[in-house]
Amino acid sequence: MKAGFDICIIGAGMAGATIAAYLAPQGVRIALIDQCFKEKKRIVGELLQPGAVTSLEEMQLGHLLEGFDAQPVDGYALLHENQKITIPYPENHIGVGLHNGLFLQNIRASALQNNTVNQIEGKALQLLENEQQEIIGVSYREEHTSEIKAIHAPLTITSDGFFSNFRESLSNNKKSVTSYFIGVVLKDCDMPFPSHGHVFLSGPTPFICYPISSNEVRLLVDFPGGQLPRKSLLQKHLDTNVTPFIPAEMLKSYQQAIHVGGFKLMPNHYMAAKPKIRKGAVMLGDALNMRHPLTGGGLTAVFSDIHILSTHLLAMPDFSNKDLIQKKIEAYYKDRQRANANLNILANALYGVMSNNLLKAAVFNYLKNGGENAQESISILAGLNRNSWALIKQFFFVAMYGAYDLMLENVNNLPKAIKVLVDALAIISPLARNELSVVAVVHGYFKK
Ligand SMILES: Cc1cc2nc3c(=O)[nH]c(=O)nc-3n(C[C@H](O)[C@H](O)[C@H](O)COP(=O)(O)OP(=O)(O)OC[C@H]3O[C@@H](n4cnc5c(N)ncnc54)[C@H](O)[C@@H]3O)c2cc1C
Repeated sequence: MKAGFDICIIGAGMAGATIAAYLAPQGVRIALIDQCFKEKKRIVGELLQPGAVTSLEEMQLGHLLEGFDAQPVDGYALLHENQKITIPYPENHIGVGLHNGLFLQNIRASALQNNTVNQIEGKALQLLENEQQEIIGVSYREEHTSEIKAIHAPLTITSDGFFSNFRESLSNNKKSVTSYFIGVVLKDCDMPFPSHGHVFLSGPTPFICYPISSNEVRLLVDFPGGQLPRKSLLQKHLDTNVTPFIPAEMLKSYQQAIHVGGFKLMPNHYMAAKPKIRKGAVMLGDALNMRHPLTGGGLTAVFSDIHILSTHLLAMPDFSNKDLIQKKIEAYYKDRQRANANLNILANALYGVMSNNLLKAAVFNYLKNGGENAQESISILAGLNRNSWALIKQFFFVAMYGAYDLMLENVNNLPKAIKVLVDALAIISPLARNELSVVAVVHGYFKK
């Protein structure tokens, strides 16, 4: 490969490896750094919403979902007390359940087969700057020699995940932990609705499950709060808040998995994107923006960001003009904000709804009615409908429906009905302030 790189990518995770796999065949010269290229067993990024699948297909990367027993997902099932409903994804769209580690190795192999990609195993240490405070590359400790080395490139992409070391230089925001997910694999498990993502609403905290191979189901149990649970607390949480609500057909696999133990725990972050524009660098993936994983929206955002950023970069004749690169970075940040607002708001708003019994019942009853409103709601969840007006409208329809239902039941429920509306407003307002502009909502209204 010729000396010199166009792009240096820090982190060959979902974001870094995928953008390398997309840009490398188009002749972009890439240095791809990661501290470890071995397969990892993680509980993240195992359900791709149809929006993520569509973005991959649009980038001609759909084949990366093949060859490792990934499973089609046709829609969602909601279980509340003794009622069950299913809502299919919009026609001609599917989601995919998979082992994240196997998928990532497929993406990495696809990137590394290009002779325009240089694989570097090492820990990125510090962004390098010139006298004008422009970023010109990164220093790293090479894994095998422990030597400190440097890579220079006109553009550095920091995609080093949620513990990003470079956020301080490139972002004006800090992450916060909303809750933890406890990950359990259920072997040979019959779900109430095969090929569906399941949301269990009956317990005090939500849990979800979906297939990740032909004989495995991933169960993710929420543990609320910002404190990592101790082992004894975790067991108590499962015994009290999960086990009694596991459907009969799943119980045997669930009890076997609980008996074996060894669960994985992951923090669930929220962080709106507030990038600092610096010449020579751009953030991608969880390093830039995170939302609660309840809705599985992370990879939809990551892949759509990759598509947006790549389209801007590929419109340049080459990577020689730093001013032009900066303009492209600014355009990417602006476009991605609008593209991802729905995913970010919905994820944390739904998480808020799950901790509120009245709103939880309102969502279930609203979706149970089916029809156009349920279809529009699922298309937002699927990452296919990015119209902010549609999201705000559906959210308030749910709250109003909940309030109306309570009043219909008994006029003495008026205080409860008011509480539903007030709580809905309290959940959505801070998220909308972080993620949305009035212009985007008005624009959405006229484009509906
Ligand atoms: C519990 C949980 C469940 C989730 N489930 C889903 C889901 O079902 N569907 C979905 O769409 N999204 C899900 N997400 C979100 C999704 O997994 C993330 O949005 C996605 O993995 C982000 O990709 P990334 O490339 O930014 O980070 P990562 O995939 O974490 O990659 C970061 C990479 O950077 C490397 N790295 C870090 N620091 C350095 C350094 N200093 N030097 C070199 N390399 C470095 C790491 O080794 C790693 O390979 C979930 C998230 C959580 C927390």
